[in-house]
Amino acid sequence: MYLPDYAVKAVEIMQKNGYNIYPVGGCVRNHILGLIPDDYDMTTNALPSQVLDVFNEYNTFDSGLKHGTVSVVIDKQVVEITTHRTETSYTDNRHPDKVIFTSELTEDLRRRDFTMNAIAYDPAADSFIDPYGGIKDIGDRLIRAVGDPVERFSEDGLRILRALRFSSVLDFEIEEYTALAIHKCRELLKNISPERIYTEFTKLLCGSNVRNVLSEYYDVIAVFIPEILPMVGFDQQNPHHCYDVYEHTLVAVEAVEADPILRWTMFLHDTGKPETFFEDERGGHFYRHYKYSADIAEKVLSRLRASNDTVSKVTTLVYHHDSVIPETSRSVKRLLMKLGYDMTMLLFKVNCADAKGQAPFQLEERLLHIEKLKTITNEVISANDCFSLKDMNISGKDIIALGVLPGKRIGEILNILLNEVIDGEIENVKETLIERASELK
Ligand code: ATP
Ligand code: MG
Repeated sequence: MYLPDYAVKAVEIMQKNGYNIYPVGGCVRNHILGLIPDDYDMTTNALPSQVLDVFNEYNTFDSGLKHGTVSVVIDKQVVEITTHRTETSYTDNRHPDKVIFTSELTEDLRRRDFTMNAIAYDPAADSFIDPYGGIKDIGDRLIRAVGDPVERFSEDGLRILRALRFSSVLDFEIEEYTALAIHKCRELLKNISPERIYTEFTKLLCGSNVRNVLSEYYDVIAVFIPEILPMVGFDQQNPHHCYDVYEHTLVAVEAVEADPILRWTMFLHDTGKPETFFEDERGGHFYRHYKYSADIAEKVLSRLRASNDTVSKVTTLVYHHDSVIPETSRSVKRLLMKLGYDMTMLLFKVNCADAKGQAPFQLEERLLHIEKLKTITNEVISANDCFSLKDMNISGKDIIALGVLPGKRIGEILNILLNEVIDGEIENVKETLIERASELK
């Protein structure tokens, strides 16, 4: 197995000091898959204090010493070296009650989650150590728990979501008994912190096999996002839609690029549909569902402790996903005024993905419409047209100079002026603006 120079150095230094050391886990899995590993975690029979001793001339830091991990900086790269360990009981389904170090590599491999992650590389012999058949499972693109899956998920519920994440990102199937155990043990995810769920689930959303995973394991996802359940099987009774709400959601998720903000937006954009549904002679409608969906998006993401920036961007995109925007520069400027350029461009991506999840007969037309809006947006931008207060040739100071007292009214006047400029009623020229402002004051 190829190791970069800094990893070779780590190996040689440990060996020179008489210890065994093995790259293990994700780097070995990715190497066998033909992918380039992003880091090289290693496991050793040396105790953490001995690892610290060996690298006393290097920069080291504690990244979980009580779990046996020492981080060593070699040529500006970090190598995590963890003492072989076994884990015994987990009374809370997430933290081992105690960590026991061992000198046996195979003991260490046994406590790892999936066979594909339980392979070590022995640099001394240039061979893999693969007691659980991980190499074969990687070849068959299968995720299989090491040992009894129910037991392993009961020890640590996060493994359930890790299995789904790997299946989505690597496009692997989940082996039958492991899959059954995932459904059976799903409630154990209730013991996992929202931050860890958010991190794993966001990676899952950005995987290439996301649609299949979300479809087959919606019951598991619903343990931490129960808001999706009403969408499953919800018939839209509408000729524009050929899928139920949940299937439409999954097609739209898959259709948008693998960016966390966009994938979360598509996943949550129609969550408000079931509760706003009504039917008349023309079919099913979801009046103002965007508003309900935005509220749900905010609730879900805040509960999972997403950053304020993520909550705000996703909520905004969900809120605007269904807006009808005429192909005029005036309506595009209004959109730019509300969202700014970057978010407007993201909204167009959302609109395309949403269209791809609807009945095919209108797809071409809808995509053309969005292309037209993009063109108009870029024309507005390159013409340097005014669409925000900062583009205006008048400021709060000018309004105060007209005798308006500092306060709310100043912002109101500026906004009226901005709207009139966007509507083409007045020009964005200082004298004109001041004249109009003095009428409004
Ligand atoms: P990536 O870093 O690409 O997300 P990875 O496999 O390296 O994937 P890490 O979270 O970095 O994942 O974990 C490194 C290794 O530690 C895993 O390959 C696995 O062997 C083990 N591991 C991680 N989390 C768990 C867990 N919850 N239960 C058991 N073993 C785990
Ligand atoms: Mg890793």
